[in-house]
Amino acid sequence: MSEETIFSKIIRQEIPTPLLYQDELVTAFRDISPRVDSHILIVPNKLIATINDVTNEDELTLGRMITVAKKLAKEEGIDENGYRLIINCNSDGGQEVYHIHMHLLGGQPLGPMLCV
Ligand code: AMP
Repeated sequence: MSEETIFSKIIRQEIPTPLLYQDELVTAFRDISPRVDSHILIVPNKLIATINDVTNEDELTLGRMITVAKKLAKEEGIDENGYRLIINCNSDGGQEVYHIHMHLLGGQPLGPMLCV
């Protein structure tokens, strides 16, 4: 069983972070330390520590993360110019919070950036 992270507390609103989106599967909120003009995290409500821990049962949730990214990109007004979606995995991948999350990055040219 994985240890809960701060993201579980945000999802349950025990830490009052403004939410951009929430449904029965995923939650989205702004990154506390934005690397670009528009930097949003899309997180499964269920604690999944890393992409290595994903199972077939999570496919609906992972698909929802993409459709929510698309919706939020449109709301942010960055859909036409473009954006990038990143999920880091484990230490070499640069993962710091062990509750998987998709970074939605945009609002400016991103260039060849490889990590967040
Ligand atoms: P990663 O390196 O992919 O694990 O990314 C973790 C991200 O979570 C970083 O971009 C952090 O800035 C962000 N983060 C950490 N704590 C919070 C928080 N309380 N609220 C919003 N974003 C956070």
